[in-house]
Amino acid sequence: MTATRHLTILGSTGSIGENTLDVVARHSNRFHVVALTANENVDKIFAQCQRFCPQYAVMLHAASAERLDKKIRTAGIDTQVLAGVESLERVASLPEVDTVMAAIVGAAGIRPTIAAARAGKKVLLANKETLVMAGRIFMDIVKQSCATLLPIDSEHNAIYQSLPRYFNGDLASVGVRRILLTASGGPFRRTTLSELEYVTPEQACAHPNWVMGRKISVDSATMMNKGLEVIEAHWLFDAAPDKIQVVIHPQSVIHSMVEYIDGSVLAQLGNPDMRTPIAHALSYPERIESGVKSLNIFEIAQLNFEAPDFARFPCLKLAYDALSAGGNMPAVLNAANEIAVESFLAGQMAFTTIPFMIEQTMQTISRQEIATLDDVLAADSMAREVAREWLTCQV
Ligand code: NAD
Ligand code: MG
Repeated sequence: MTATRHLTILGSTGSIGENTLDVVARHSNRFHVVALTANENVDKIFAQCQRFCPQYAVMLHAASAERLDKKIRTAGIDTQVLAGVESLERVASLPEVDTVMAAIVGAAGIRPTIAAARAGKKVLLANKETLVMAGRIFMDIVKQSCATLLPIDSEHNAIYQSLPRYFNGDLASVGVRRILLTASGGPFRRTTLSELEYVTPEQACAHPNWVMGRKISVDSATMMNKGLEVIEAHWLFDAAPDKIQVVIHPQSVIHSMVEYIDGSVLAQLGNPDMRTPIAHALSYPERIESGVKSLNIFEIAQLNFEAPDFARFPCLKLAYDALSAGGNMPAVLNAANEIAVESFLAGQMAFTTIPFMIEQTMQTISRQEIATLDDVLAADSMAREVAREWLTCQV
């Protein structure tokens, strides 16, 4: 019989969080939810507490925690409500928890994700921003703490599945020539540069293949998401940037590929549904039902591939630049992108200004080495300040 896994789900009210709970609910004998966390959606996390009865529920702010606590008491649920980043770190490192789903969006996820790794947990990593901001620091902590790291991002999960089980972090030693990182191309794959100027947040968030949170949806539309994923792949698999080829594959059926020196190309295919990588990581190395429907290859019939267009999607190029500059630059890229996406979603900025603003921020801040998490957080704050200032000057 399989031992029960004890889970903390960071960001349980988000798209990845909800998909995780969907898979967990299909296997109540395998998984026990110890802690759930959310930013501010009290109603949603309350409904999750009613269903999964976790020991802890954490809200970012005290006011939402108070509202949640009241509802929990009234309903007579045995859940302790906590608040603040320290509490997020606490539930990510509880001794009774063995597995942590890191699914907070953006830089806000870094501290609890690192806390989980430091505590030697099995970390299911959806929060790619942690690796973008602090790749080396995070990977060192994973190694030193003997944590297990399993990628949730569908591409990286596909790469993980296409590598040999005995992969030890050295691609050359297992005969890998390169990684083919697939991208759907997002909702504006065929949109001209002049039309891109006028696209709305609603259009940007209407992804053709995936249902996701708003920030990652905009990242997919600018292709910054793929840029962040190149950096993520670099750290996860110790892959040099020139060994990672981005491939536009509009059907999102192949989730990425690994090419070996003998000419073999191994791929992982499936319907675009995040429950597949989530179920894979939750039960690894076993396989469990995820609720994802069987892939109908006859219906798909055709798989297409194109090279990426850096002129229409400059964010991708900016991410490669940040990766090769190293030091604080990936954290600066990430922070400027978060401010730009926020402004675009708030209707304060044109879609085409997003890469421009990120580039301006990267040019304003000088490159510095990063040694500690504090250095990373300082780079993040400075980039946010510079990006906000730039934005103020534009209005
Ligand atoms: P989402 O916006 O749907 O959910 C984000 C979650 O984080 C919510 O639970 C929210 O309450 C919480 N949160 C937001 N800000 C917070 C803060 N400041 N402090 C604490 N908690 C906060 O996002 P998502 O689409 O589920 O994405 C989550 C992460 O997974 C992102 O890093 C994203 O890049 C990655 N990812 C998502 C998908 C997908 O299909 N959605 C695929 C691959 C990777
Ligand atoms: Mg992805």
